[in-house]
Amino acid sequence: MGSAVVIRGCPGAQSPGQLVPVPRPIAFLDRDGVLNVDRGYVATRERFEWTSTAFDSVQLLASMGFVVAVVTNQSGVGRGLYEEDDFLQLTEWMLGEMPEISVVAYCPHEPDANCPGRKPGTGQLEAVSSLFPCLKDRSFLVGDKQSDILAARRFGVLALRADESGPLGAIKAAIDRLSQSGNA
Ligand SMILES: [Mg+2]
Ligand SMILES: [Zn+2]
Repeated sequence: MGSAVVIRGCPGAQSPGQLVPVPRPIAFLDRDGVLNVDRGYVATRERFEWTSTAFDSVQLLASMGFVVAVVTNQSGVGRGLYEEDDFLQLTEWMLGEMPEISVVAYCPHEPDANCPGRKPGTGQLEAVSSLFPCLKDRSFLVGDKQSDILAARRFGVLALRADESGPLGAIKAAIDRLSQSGNA
């Protein structure tokens, strides 16, 4: 695993520090249904299958200077379907496969907990920005659910939906839109 940071995106979570002061464009990527096929509560490598454009996507983003940030609701922990440590171990493996990822923020809470870290709350995006200050008008999120899109809008970045093949089409569209608006 590289130097990526894994943080809870929930209020009161401890920041690992190491603030990088220069604002940068950030590509926020949801995990399930974007980087991997959403089979519902994926917590093991056996059930983890990358989407077909996942690797090309992060390589493109890294080559363009984006901070690649994963933002992922993991209510399976709060629901008691798997342990937080299962998620963290899977994440460690994922980061070894995909060293272009700089940060993973997650919320382990179930919906009833009403945690602002759970999308459509903005906690995960804010947690990422506390480590990598975000140039919002050059940043975007790719998700597969309305909760992802809402979180991005509330936070103030462009949001697009992934398709079945993964995030690459949405990423290219986002980069197009940002360049047309004179931001990129
Ligand atoms: Mg998803
Ligand atoms: Zn939370």
